[in-house]
Amino acid sequence: GAGSCSSTSLPRVLSIAGSDSGGGAGIQADIKALLSRGVFAMTALTALTAQNTHGVSAVHAVPPDFLRRQIDAVLGDLGADAIKTGMLPNAECVAVVAEAVRSYRGAGHALPLVVDPVLVSTSGHALAEGGVAAALLRQLIPLATVVTPNLPEAQALLGGEQIVDVEGMRRAAKQLQAMTGCAAVLVKGGHLRPPPPPPPTANGDAATSDPVAESIDVLYDGSSLHEFRGPWIHTGNTHGTGCTLASAISAELAKGLPLLPAVAAARAALLEALRASAPLALGSGVQRPF
Ligand code: PLP
Repeated sequence: GAGSCSSTSLPRVLSIAGSDSGGGAGIQADIKALLSRGVFAMTALTALTAQNTHGVSAVHAVPPDFLRRQIDAVLGDLGADAIKTGMLPNAECVAVVAEAVRSYRGAGHALPLVVDPVLVSTSGHALAEGGVAAALLRQLIPLATVVTPNLPEAQALLGGEQIVDVEGMRRAAKQLQAMTGCAAVLVKGGHLRPPPPPPPTANGDAATSDPVAESIDVLYDGSSLHEFRGPWIHTGNTHGTGCTLASAISAELAKGLPLLPAVAAARAALLEALRASAPLALGSGVQRPF
């Protein structure tokens, strides 16, 4: 009626992660992914990186107390329907995030938590100090709705043998869940040895999607295993895919989706992004498709 105005709300996601100046990964990828999934993106920066398509040239960590101030500022006012974590440069930052999650949940808020256990960049630069893997295992992963290691991260967290096939991924997912008691583990198969690229098409362009080869992620939720399969997209533009997937999962959880459909929707969105960006050439450091 006259004088009244209706208000609407958007699902809210807080991304706690590092900045990638090159715009491909980190907070920048998170904001783009959250926006594209239709949720409101908020951020708490853990570190700045000087980075481009050639790699990371410098890292500047945010003091843990200042990280806490950002998280408190956001949760104390706007609130969040999910949190996603990425790069956490040291064990103190891991402790700050774990404590903030526990206290927000303790205040009665359902808070899905997606933990992307970022340790080393694809280009080989350490994004976390020694002690972060242990702190993640002990303090943050136990609180996770889902933790999303790629194969090198799963190996680093478990300290076990190399994961070279889907059976190894299943074992790793179960092991990590049992070790931490987290709700679910999604082991991502993007580092399994890529299949050979498909032959060129009739018009001379390399096909970017191979319907025979598959991308496979394995999820263990504490009682059963699930596998997600899709086409393998042949592209060198994979920097930031982990950040994008974890953010998209957090967006779907913030909307209220259960975990399995949230992961399926996030994978579909990532596949579309990989397909759309496959012909893109940005910077001089990106490797061409294998
Ligand atoms: N830089 C930042 C700030 C990140 O958060 C990440 C990954 O999460 C990376 C770099 C590494 O991305 P990639 O391993 O895809 O190169």
